[in-house]
Amino acid sequence: MDPLDPNCPCGSGNPLSQCCGHYHGGTPAPCAELLMRSRYSAYVLGLVDYLVATTLPAQQQALDRDAMAAWSAQSTWLGLEVEQREVFGGKPEHAQVTFVARWHDDNGEHSHRECSAFVQVDGRWYFIDPTVPLKAGRNDPCPCQGGQKFKKCCAPFLSA
Ligand SMILES: [Zn+2]
Ligand SMILES: [Zn+2]
Repeated sequence: MDPLDPNCPCGSGNPLSQCCGHYHGGTPAPCAELLMRSRYSAYVLGLVDYLVATTLPAQQQALDRDAMAAWSAQSTWLGLEVEQREVFGGKPEHAQVTFVARWHDDNGEHSHRECSAFVQVDGRWYFIDPTVPLKAGRNDPCPCQGGQKFKKCCAPFLSA
C-alpha cells in the first residue's frame, strides 16, 4: 500500500485517489451509491465542506457544520457495508441506498443501519437529509428544483 495514497476509507479496496478522492476533488459521483460511499469517506477524513456540498442545496443552510465536524473528529470509523441500492426512475431520478456504518467513540462501538435517499439534479446526485425539513406545500414545486411537484418528487423520500 502506498502511504501517500492509502486504501479508500469506503472499503472498496482501491486507493483513495482512484476511488472517493475523485469525487472529493470535484468530479460528480455517477450514481447514488458512489455518492453515499464518498460521503462516508468524507466523514472519515473530516471533509465537512464536501458533506455540505453533497446535501440537497435547499437544505445546506440548515446543516450544523460544527456538529458534523465534531462527530467526524470524535469517532473512529471502522467500516462501511452497502447492503442494498435501489434506483427509482423518473425526472429527476431518485435512489435509496441501505448501508451499515460502524464506528467507535468514548462510549464504545456503534453500528448504524440507515436507508438514505438521494436525488439527481442537473447531473449531480445529492443526499436528502431526513433531519432537515423542506418547507414546501405538497403541490408546490419541489425544493430540489427538479421541476416536479413536491409530493411527486422528494416528499415521499423524506418520510421514508
Ligand atoms: Zn471510496
Ligand atoms: Zn425533489
